[in-house]
Amino acid sequence: MRAPAVRSLTESYGHDSVVDAARVVLSRLREEISSGLLDGNALQLALSGLSGAVENQLRRTLSYSLRPVINATGVILHTNLGRAPLSDAVIDHIRETATSYSNLEFDLATGDRGKRDVHVDRLFRRLLSYEMPAVSASAAGLRPGGTAEAALSTRTEMAYAEATRAGIATIVVNNNAAAVLLALNTLAEGGEVIVSRGELVEIGGSFRIPDVMAKSGAILREVGTTNRTRAADYEAAITERTRLLLRVHRSNFEIKGFTEQPTTAELVALARQRYIPLMEDLGSGALFDLRSIGIGGEPGVLDSLRSGVNVVTYSGDKLLGGPQAGLISGSSELIARMRSNSLFRALRVDKLVYAALEATLLAYVQHDHDAIPTLRMMRLTKEEIGKRAEALASKVNARQLKIEIIDGESLLGGGAAPSSVLPTRVLALSCGGLSADELAARLRGSEPPIIARVEEGRVLLDLRTVFPEQNAAVVAALNRITS
Ligand SMILES: *Cc1c(COP(=O)(O)O)cnc(C)c1O
Repeated sequence: MRAPAVRSLTESYGHDSVVDAARVVLSRLREEISSGLLDGNALQLALSGLSGAVENQLRRTLSYSLRPVINATGVILHTNLGRAPLSDAVIDHIRETATSYSNLEFDLATGDRGKRDVHVDRLFRRLLSYEMPAVSASAAGLRPGGTAEAALSTRTEMAYAEATRAGIATIVVNNNAAAVLLALNTLAEGGEVIVSRGELVEIGGSFRIPDVMAKSGAILREVGTTNRTRAADYEAAITERTRLLLRVHRSNFEIKGFTEQPTTAELVALARQRYIPLMEDLGSGALFDLRSIGIGGEPGVLDSLRSGVNVVTYSGDKLLGGPQAGLISGSSELIARMRSNSLFRALRVDKLVYAALEATLLAYVQHDHDAIPTLRMMRLTKEEIGKRAEALASKVNARQLKIEIIDGESLLGGGAAPSSVLPTRVLALSCGGLSADELAARLRGSEPPIIARVEEGRVLLDLRTVFPEQNAAVVAALNRITS
């Protein structure tokens, strides 16, 4: 600490941080000495570089661990890379909300206490409103002439009309796992929830339906088999203990072959007939039509609600393209019960999440899908991406690096359409004398780190998930990589 070079560090870093860093550096050096790694010359060198080593250690300790990376994997909603990036408009709204006081829970008209959910509930109501068809057998999702039609009593019809008049409400919690927990605890604690054996899913990061069910205090009642479950299986399992029918989206797998699953309409009809709510854990929950990007067979939030599902749960940072959040949308009466559950208070989100969600939802209300970064990436065509790849490759002049531009596949990720891909063009890199894994490791070591895929001995860069303003950084990294 008395050496002038070290003492001068205390001016910018403070005495305590410098002492800590010096201790780390010295104990590392002692270990190297005692393990016999250093000969006399190397030891002299290490000792003469001590103050530099202390400064490096200080820089490392006092810099951020969480840093931006370039996602060149082509997986748009990559959970390990933070899922959905947010737009500047969203960040502006976060910034103004974060750096000032706000009307988070304050009613400006009356001067009274307000509710934090109003800010986004009003937008969800617009996005999820739909023309209710007249209450009829077809609206109830029954097949014409089906025997269940007769069972649909006048009383059910009235209850149904009542519920739909009250409209669709939405509340926000920390993530979709929390949304499922709150919904199950509110609607089914102490009672039974019927789920198909083909839908007892595990999502990465230890979210397992049976475990969440147990934590919620609800009792799991499995029906059907792994590959085949029919509406009749749900019906046979209904008792006076049944509180909820649950359908879970198969977010990250598919079951193919000899399979059967009841349609949503069949489950809706059964739920109505027996006065039991039907909930669907959508996982990804798109607020736009996935068919517009060539992906079929994935129900959106509105599809599910429109077909009569009473409650849906979905993530804020998957297909919606917003901040991490769990959304619960459904009939106002059921949502009101969840809002008054004390778990809701424990799972509620911060004002910054409301700000980010509000700004994201406003883009949907204005049909400005390109304002949402992940939706813009999904809508890029293979031709546009190919042109960008050509332009980028033409700027790389590292001679040992072999670059080819080939057809490839981007993935949505984030538990949506697990077997659907978006056609793309990728840069395929190889380098004599360097394995693909070594090349990928060097890309990860660049500043900012670049994350790529390795396939069949080559490194693949998919520019679908690389922001155009990051192109220059990719070119610079490739030009340095073999040097
Ligand atoms: C992703 C997913 C979850 C978990 O959502 P988080 O927002 O990551 O907590 C739960 N259920 C399904 C079906 C999912 O796809």
